[in-house]
Amino acid sequence: MSPDLDRLVRLQHLDTTIEEARRAIAAHPPRLAEADARLSEARERVETVRLRLKECHDARRALEKEAAVFQARVTKFKDQLLDVKTNREYQALQHEIATAQTELGAVEEKELERMLEADQLALDLKQAEAALAAQQKQVDAEKAALAREQTETARALEGATAGRAELLAQLEPRLVALYDQVAKARKGIAICVATRDGLCSVCHVRLRPHVFQQVRQNDTIIQCESCHRILYYAPPPLATAGAAATPAS
Ligand SMILES: [Zn+2]
Repeated sequence: MSPDLDRLVRLQHLDTTIEEARRAIAAHPPRLAEADARLSEARERVETVRLRLKECHDARRALEKEAAVFQARVTKFKDQLLDVKTNREYQALQHEIATAQTELGAVEEKELERMLEADQLALDLKQAEAALAAQQKQVDAEKAALAREQTETARALEGATAGRAELLAQLEPRLVALYDQVAKARKGIAICVATRDGLCSVCHVRLRPHVFQQVRQNDTIIQCESCHRILYYAPPPLATAGAAATPAS
């Protein structure tokens, strides 16, 4: 391959690396935010259940007070029974006792419901806390991985940027201008291989036989007639020759 073509191929690799690194760096903050959002959600779930459990306990305490009032009333009426003089007074007190006991029963029923609810909420809380702990662990691991990835990406970006400057210094300005012009017009891909069956590998246009023949020489700058990308040829490795041709589409 001609030195210029080789430099252009390497330039394209470096530019692709730079582009990928920039994209990865830009994706970093949203990925962090997404992990933090998951953590907040798990934390909120714990707080919600904890609050409901507290409300349930408060409600139960209020019911206990209410039950004590009815219990006291029952006791008071029973004490008064000892002092009644007439059958009518006796029956009236019995009626009061029955009413207070019915009310006491209803309150105790509600207390029982609250107890069962509290048991369930305590279980829910345990689950929510376990989920939070698991999420915390996962997010910590993700953040550590992201930080490592960021360091590697920064290093790759730095290396590729330095390599790019070096290559540019070795290339003729007219080739750099051509490369930049095509890259700008073609989503950053200025140079691509011609497939073994004679197509531009990106736009898939079939090259004219004599053009393909020239491309296969890898010694001049030839552009695809359709997309204008600079073309080069990657000969097949001897062992797998002909087995891995890029299909036309
Ligand atoms: Zn093309």
